[in-house]
Amino acid sequence: MEHLVRSCYKQGGYVFAKKADEIVRDYRIDRIARLASNENPEPPSSLAIAAAEEALRHANRYPDERVDILTDALRGRFGTYHFVTGVGMDGVIETLIRTLVEPGESVAISTPTFSFYGLSAVAQGAKIINVPRKKDFAVDPKKLIKVGKTAKITVICSPNNPTGNATPVEVVEEVLQGISGVLFLDNAYIEFSDYDYLPLLKTYDNLIIGRTFSKVHSLAGLRIGYAFVPEWIVPFYQRASTPFTVNMVSAAAAAGAIRDQDHMTRYIVQVKRWRKRFADKVKFPVLPSDANFMMIDISPHTSDEVVEKLSQQGVIVRSCRGFAGLPDHYIRVSIGEDWENDRFVNAINQL
Ligand SMILES: *Cc1c(COP(=O)(O)O)cnc(C)c1O
Repeated sequence: MEHLVRSCYKQGGYVFAKKADEIVRDYRIDRIARLASNENPEPPSSLAIAAAEEALRHANRYPDERVDILTDALRGRFGTYHFVTGVGMDGVIETLIRTLVEPGESVAISTPTFSFYGLSAVAQGAKIINVPRKKDFAVDPKKLIKVGKTAKITVICSPNNPTGNATPVEVVEEVLQGISGVLFLDNAYIEFSDYDYLPLLKTYDNLIIGRTFSKVHSLAGLRIGYAFVPEWIVPFYQRASTPFTVNMVSAAAAAGAIRDQDHMTRYIVQVKRWRKRFADKVKFPVLPSDANFMMIDISPHTSDEVVEKLSQQGVIVRSCRGFAGLPDHYIRVSIGEDWENDRFVNAINQL
């Protein structure tokens, strides 16, 4: 019966990292350094946990479809912006494409980058146009604008996954002015950088800034993301969304998490300290990063080979083989706890 399945799902798909329990089983190592998914290694904030427990008591009811508990908390933190929320930022991306892109219309993506934009666009019948970054992985605004003149959505990830570099505000502004559709600016890692794109929202009504609770906020398992959006899109996004998308436990936890500045700061400090240490200690070239991960050029080795060797030593990192447009000699490593980072440095320097 497989012939019934749509062709876009017959091959490819999101590439997941090796699971910690597989490594425990295969190599009999009981403590695994989990550095493949850019998560905050610290458990969620106690404010998030308390709010989630309280929400769980009311889970017999459907959630508030506007998730006021979360949008109020976001306004408390950032000011009077307009927000949409979703099941992870992935859910936000999927819903935005559904809101804006008719089958056959195009989505322009500055690559190499996070794979989900393309996967989601193709699955929804869009045409994707990958626009390569420059040699140093900087966004090429001229090329992006050329394609963005006909695309419904243009995507820039900043700081970019997996390369780690952020895009200057002036370049983002140049793109905003040149394209005719919407710019989706993915800010999954913005908290680890010194960049601030929010002032652009005051001037441009074609800017959408995506954010997530999965990284600095330690809530990857609860699947919650949001975006700063222009006001005009809000009712349409809500129509395109499934009626009760974000569950009340996740929304409450996120509202708690965004209030806990200390929890965030602890990991941001750790990240900034280790970005320097990785650059100093790792014997391979480490690309400068504005995020909580670093891309490392491990040539003459290849990505999958290094990922396998590191996993034998109890360290999980991300192979960059799956990132379209990237040569096969990079890995991406997240910044974890001290012992995890130390173990990674030891293991990679033995190659
Ligand atoms: C992790 C990540 C996301 C999505 O995270 P969610 O867990 O779906 O909120 C989006 N964009 C980039 C670049 C990411 O790395």
